[in-house]
Amino acid sequence: MDLKIDFFTRQISSRNHQIFLPILDEKGVELFIKREDEIHSFVSGNKFRKLKYNLQKAKNEGHTTLLTFGGAFSNHIIATAVAGKMNGFNTIGIIRGDELATDLQQTIQDNPTLQKAHESGMIFEFVSRETYRTKISEEFLEQLTAKFGNFYLIPEGGTNELAIKGCEEIVTVNDSKFDYICCSVGTGGTISGLINASEDYQKVIGFPSLKGDFLKTEIEKYTTKTNWSLQTDFHFGGYAKYNATLIRFINDFNEETKVLLDPIYTAKMIYGLLQIIKNDGFKKGSKILAIHTGGLQGIQGVNQKLHKNNEQIIH
Ligand SMILES: *Cc1c(COP(=O)(O)O)cnc(C)c1O
Repeated sequence: MDLKIDFFTRQISSRNHQIFLPILDEKGVELFIKREDEIHSFVSGNKFRKLKYNLQKAKNEGHTTLLTFGGAFSNHIIATAVAGKMNGFNTIGIIRGDELATDLQQTIQDNPTLQKAHESGMIFEFVSRETYRTKISEEFLEQLTAKFGNFYLIPEGGTNELAIKGCEEIVTVNDSKFDYICCSVGTGGTISGLINASEDYQKVIGFPSLKGDFLKTEIEKYTTKTNWSLQTDFHFGGYAKYNATLIRFINDFNEETKVLLDPIYTAKMIYGLLQIIKNDGFKKGSKILAIHTGGLQGIQGVNQKLHKNNEQIIH
């Protein structure tokens, strides 16, 4: 179900979907999932939120081209490509991995994310992992300007001040009844917006999908509030890492609740959240809102890899 996205005027709010599971009854905890994944199949969840005010600014400044960075299966890359097309921008994606440039036809054929981005008109520039690390250096940006002309730069993962402003719109006044707001954390942009928009009596809990101690400092750049914490035990080995337990969890959760989670972000959050509930981490009567930040487009690419082990995410 894709909502028609109007990046320039419309305020979108997604529904809260109550989850029923025996463990929730047993512990006396209410869990709702905010279905940001239903906003759009490709400009999904927090990526829509993060792009919204950036696209407005790009348009207001007269830009015709958006340039951004990402990995080969990135939700942000595909969202930028599709949102750019919908709003009349050219898009350029700086993609990590120069080996992907060797046979572009093959790369596109093998990678559903890049295929969709390509169909949406995105021009790719594949760079080595080494160059990718220097992507925000002045020297590299000058090279890009020399090659592509003027562009509006959107950072990796889409996180900047305007992205956080967009993420502040994920929760609304109707969500003030919740005691906890939970989300997955990549760069920390989304949780920063949620923290800014939260009530002081609410607690915002982030579940990083990657290892690393830098996230706390990143989040503190964007918010001065302190009603938040990170649960760092549920990254499953690091960014884009998963195992048979997580894949089985996704399939079981989908069967029991009819909510499909993605293996890179949202499944790690819900898995961790249910683990904490099991261990009596929330007192009886707690009302929890977990944000489904989307990312379901990535399942196809993950399934291609799982296929070799005879595993599949059923969707
Ligand atoms: C990008 C992404 C995140 C991480 O958001 P940040 O703002 O980078 O922390 C979480 N969930 C999904 C599905 C994403 O695509």
